[in-house]
Amino acid sequence: MGSSNKTIVWFRRDLRIEDNPALASAARDGSVFPVFIWCPNEEGQFYPGRVSRWWLKHSLSHLNQSLKSLGVGLVLIKTHSTLAALLDCINAIQATKVVFNHLYDPVSLVRDHNIKEKLVEHGISVKSYNGDLLYEPWEVYSKSGHAFTLFDPFWKRCLDMQTKGVSLNPPWQLFPAEGKVKKCSIEELGLEDELERSSNALLGRAWSPGWSNADKALTEFVEKHLLHYSKNRLRVGGDSTSLLSPYLHFGELSVRKVFQSSRMKQILWANEGNIVGEESVTLFLRAIGLREYSRYLCFNYPFTHERALLGNLKFFPWNADPANFKAWRQGRTGYPLVDAGMRELWATGWIHNRIRVIVSSFAVKMLLLPWKWGMKYFWDTLLDADLESDILGWQYISGSLPDGHELERLDDPEVQGAKFDPEGEYVRQWLPELARMPTEWIHHPWDAPLTVHIASGVELGQNYPKPIVGVDSARERLTQAIFKMWEMEAAAKAADSEGKNEVVAENSNSAENLDIPKVVLKGKTPCATISANDQKVPAFQDPKNDKPIRKRSKCVAEAEPNPDKPQNHKNDPEVSSIDQEMCSTAESSCKKQSTTSTYSFSVPQQCSSSSNPKWSWQEQIDMEQNSSEDSKHPYISKGEKK
Ligand SMILES: Cc1cc2nc3c(=O)[nH]c(=O)nc-3n(C[C@H](O)[C@H](O)[C@H](O)COP(=O)(O)OP(=O)(O)OC[C@H]3O[C@@H](n4cnc5c(N)ncnc54)[C@H](O)[C@@H]3O)c2cc1C
Repeated sequence: MGSSNKTIVWFRRDLRIEDNPALASAARDGSVFPVFIWCPNEEGQFYPGRVSRWWLKHSLSHLNQSLKSLGVGLVLIKTHSTLAALLDCINAIQATKVVFNHLYDPVSLVRDHNIKEKLVEHGISVKSYNGDLLYEPWEVYSKSGHAFTLFDPFWKRCLDMQTKGVSLNPPWQLFPAEGKVKKCSIEELGLEDELERSSNALLGRAWSPGWSNADKALTEFVEKHLLHYSKNRLRVGGDSTSLLSPYLHFGELSVRKVFQSSRMKQILWANEGNIVGEESVTLFLRAIGLREYSRYLCFNYPFTHERALLGNLKFFPWNADPANFKAWRQGRTGYPLVDAGMRELWATGWIHNRIRVIVSSFAVKMLLLPWKWGMKYFWDTLLDADLESDILGWQYISGSLPDGHELERLDDPEVQGAKFDPEGEYVRQWLPELARMPTEWIHHPWDAPLTVHIASGVELGQNYPKPIVGVDSARERLTQAIFKMWEMEAAAKAADSEGKNEVVAENSNSAENLDIPKVVLKGKTPCATISANDQKVPAFQDPKNDKPIRKRSKCVAEAEPNPDKPQNHKNDPEVSSIDQEMCSTAESSCKKQSTTSTYSFSVPQQCSSSSNPKWSWQEQIDMEQNSSEDSKHPYISKGEKK
């Protein structure tokens, strides 16, 4: 190791040693300076919640120990400017290079792009790598060269492409690049404050953050549970799914490794004629595909944390009622399955995918709450809070993805309860006030005779609420809202064609009213990149020319030809026609930074849940997604029994 190269390895959400391309390249090049920079003010409104920070704290300690055993400890820095902190490190060790792995959420896309530009301006060599995905978002196009807006063709295309190998062996030794910087201890990072400690104490019983624990969790899942994933993932309760999402969020597990170890099993089971095993792997990989797709959408359409992917919701009259929002958060809606889910979320930071779909659909369809409020609340409370997956989930249920739930679809929580929790065990576990309610009434206690109420100690309106809204009136309200949305959309179009669109009243939620700019992926990228590995930034087009569009078929007819683009994609079944009407890029995010803050949505203060010491942590329970309709949708696992 005679090289004089000194490389800063900037760790973010790639907290692992194994299959970490940035770390591996630095280790190959010479001496290394691993650093984690914590800059709360740059996180803005997406400052991580209490449980997410707890996880991060433990994961960083774990990584530090591993790096130390290889020869170099992790330097922790708390700062007001990531760029300034990086420049300090560069000066302190006389670094020749900075390396890091890509992130794709809208906040990081902008920050990383700016930092990279500034470092290059300072004459620093910067190199970035794919440490988080099977494929970079700019590697996956439809035949016509456009970004996919449908999951199935996206995932088919991914599976048809060749996967890149995993460098399973971590570096066996690291050589330190010496230098003095203002570093701090893990406690000084301030990821967990005094008030949060007692709430967090029980977390450690259920979860073990850290990359080597992630590795063990993966092995156990692949060896013991993967075979029955297709059946078990539907179970309400128990470890029915992999529970890998927090590890994947913080990059403690290489998704390439997850993919390869599952594929190996699939090949083995195919040879043995084990159809159940084969199907299980297909479904599990599909789940991994959804994670890939969440990053893909965020990269190609980086405003999706602030406004719907489809323009149809632009005029939707949300009912931004803080009292309803509070009742939903507290699990006091009067619908047992929804309330049980919300209580579990608050108490444990975890809910199964199916429960996520049920509670989020309830908020949007039954209460007409803005989907962004729900998204932010999930972000604040989930242990696996992940901006990209959170955005995908909320846009999926709120009718703003071309292959998600229909906007007009409203599921009855009583019916869902009977279907997914037939014995009422889940409800009884999380709602002790209904513990003695007979199964017959558990999902609709309001229908139970008075004698049953008396016998089970349930006093509706006293110790358990009456339904916050009836299903029939909610359905009516949703229909009216959709009509109003159409009316306003038509009025906007008419006003637009008469050149007086300023008189059109729009709904109260300003963040929904942004026009959606267009994207051409294979265009010239405006941001200079340094190597073929580097983060790409797709081109940006003028958003003024965009028109709001309605979901699915209609927009094909309405779409106007764009002279800048090849037209053959109109008939491209792999790309929904909305592709012409949507999206933007990291470049546009940079330009739009001020817009972002101007329009950033406001969530009532009470939503912030980061520290409530009242609740204890319990065993995690998992469930899968929604009703029979769901089998048509990509975000719902196929093969679900009706
Ligand atoms: C409204 C809503 C919000 C969500 N918010 C988040 C979030 O903040 N963070 C998060 O990681 N997931 C989120 N999801 C997706 C999904 O619910 C979780 O990834 C899953 O429940 C995690 O459990 P698991 O690891 O046992 O999943 P498994 O079923 O074992 O799947 C394996 C992995 O695939 C990925 N995955 C599975 N389903 C999805 C999905 N629908 N979308 C994206 N990735 C998926 C996850 O990384 C997961 O760890 C959300 C879903 C909805 C409907």
